Amino acid sequence: MDIRIQKIIEGLFCLEDMREVYRGALPTGLSPDEEAALGAKLGELEGLVGEIRAGTGRPRVTQLAGGIALRTREETAINIQPIQAGGRLTPEARKALALWGDGYSVCDACRAPFRLDRITKPPLAAFHEDLAAFVGMDRARVVPGARRGFQAVTSALVGREDWVLLSSLGHYTEYLAVEQAGGSVHEIPADDRRVVTAEAAAERLDTLVRELGKPPALVMCDHFDYRDANEHDVRGVARAAHQYDAPFLYNGAYTVGVMPVDGKALGADFVVGSGHKSMAAPAPSGVLATTDEYAERVFRTTRIAGDLTGRTFGAKEVELLGCTLMGGTVVAMMASFPAVRERTAHWDGEVAKSNYFVDRLLEIEGSACISEYPRKHAVSKVDTTGSFDTVAKTHKRRGFFLQDELSKRGIVGVFAGATRAWKLSTYGLSWRRVEYLADAYQEIAEKYGLAVAGA
Ligand SMILES: *Cc1c(COP(=O)(O)O)cnc(C)c1O
Repeated sequence: MDIRIQKIIEGLFCLEDMREVYRGALPTGLSPDEEAALGAKLGELEGLVGEIRAGTGRPRVTQLAGGIALRTREETAINIQPIQAGGRLTPEARKALALWGDGYSVCDACRAPFRLDRITKPPLAAFHEDLAAFVGMDRARVVPGARRGFQAVTSALVGREDWVLLSSLGHYTEYLAVEQAGGSVHEIPADDRRVVTAEAAAERLDTLVRELGKPPALVMCDHFDYRDANEHDVRGVARAAHQYDAPFLYNGAYTVGVMPVDGKALGADFVVGSGHKSMAAPAPSGVLATTDEYAERVFRTTRIAGDLTGRTFGAKEVELLGCTLMGGTVVAMMASFPAVRERTAHWDGEVAKSNYFVDRLLEIEGSACISEYPRKHAVSKVDTTGSFDTVAKTHKRRGFFLQDELSKRGIVGVFAGATRAWKLSTYGLSWRRVEYLADAYQEIAEKYGLAVAGA
C-alpha cells in the first residue's frame, strides 16, 4: 500500500481528535490545557502533512478501538464485489457522515408534526419529494434497507390468509417479509434462460387464483435479480398482477440509483430501492415509494391510544414505526443523491464496460457467461470451470491461486477460492480500471498456459 493512504487516514484521525477538543471545551473558548492539546495535535498533523508530501513514514495507527481494522480496500484496490459497487460512498456522503454522524442528528430542527419526512433543516422534506420523482412515483419514504421496504408493504397488505406471488429468483428478504406478515408465497418460475416472463406470471396467476379462490395480496418481482443479474419483464408481471387488481411491487435493489427507473411507467404500485446496494449510501438505507392510492394504506398514520392515559401519537406512520433513518445514514444518502441522480443517465456506459470485461474474459478459452449475454447490467455471473478451474485442479493452492494472483494485482472482491461460477461488478469503475481488470485476467490466464484468443 502507498504509505500516503495510511498517512491520509492518520491525518483524518488527527483532525477528528482536534475536533474532539472543541467538543469538550466551554462555548466561550479553549482552556490553556485544551489549547495545548490542540497545539500538540496540530504539530502531529503538520508532521503527517510532511509525510504525505514526501511519501515517507511508518504506519502509526494500525487499528481503531476494539480491534477494528482500518478499511482501505477502496483506496488500495479495485473492488469488484457485486453487492458493494453501487453502495460505495461519494466524497459528499463521506463528508456528510463525518459531520452528521451523531445519533439523532437530523432531529436538531424537528418541528410538529415531528416526522422525518417533514424536516426542512437539513432539507429532508424536499429530499423525500425528490426521491419520489426520481423513481416516477407520488410519495416516498426512506427505509433501513430494501428489505424494510418489503416489510412495510407486506405488513400493511398481507394478512394470515393471504398469498403473495413472487419471482422464483427473488431475494430471500422478499420471502421473509411475507413470512413475517403471516402470508404464504407462490413463485413465478423462471424460464430456461433464467428469466421471468409476463407469460409465466400470467399463467401462474390464472392457475393459483383458480386453486386458491382469490387473487394475491401482492405481486413482487426484481427488475434484475441478485443471482445472475438477468433482466425480468417487470412491466409484463405488473400487467398480469393488475388483471387481478393485485398491487405490484417493483424490486429495484439493483436498479434504483444506478439506472433510470420510472415506476409508474412500469406499472408499479410500489418501488423499493436499496441505499447501500445502489445509491451510494451507508447501510442500512433504502427507499420505498408508492402512489397516492396506496400511500393511504402503507403510510397509514397511527390511531392507537393508551387505555389509561389516552395518549395518541399524531402523524407517526405505523409501518415505519414513526421515523426511520435519523442521522448520518439519511444525510449521507441525501448528500450522494445529486451525484446518484446524475449517474443514472450514464447507465449505458456502465453496461458497455460490463460487456467489455465479459468479452475479454470470454477470450480466455473455456470461459463462459452464465448471465444473459450480451449483458444488460454491471453485475455478471461467469463460469471459468473450463479455464481457471482447470489450473486449480493441479495448483498447490487449488482454487485460491486465482485469488492470490488477483490480489497481487490489487483486485479484490471475488469469492475466496472461486474458480468455477463467480460474480463480479464493473459498476463505477473508470475505463482505465476496467481495462486493467480485463488485462489482469488475461495475463493470469496466459501465465498458466490457458489459450487467450487474439493474444
Ligand atoms: C440486495 C438485495 C435486496 C436486499 O437489499 P437491502 O437493502 O440490503 O435490504 C433485496 N432484493 C434484491 C434483488 C437484492 O439484490
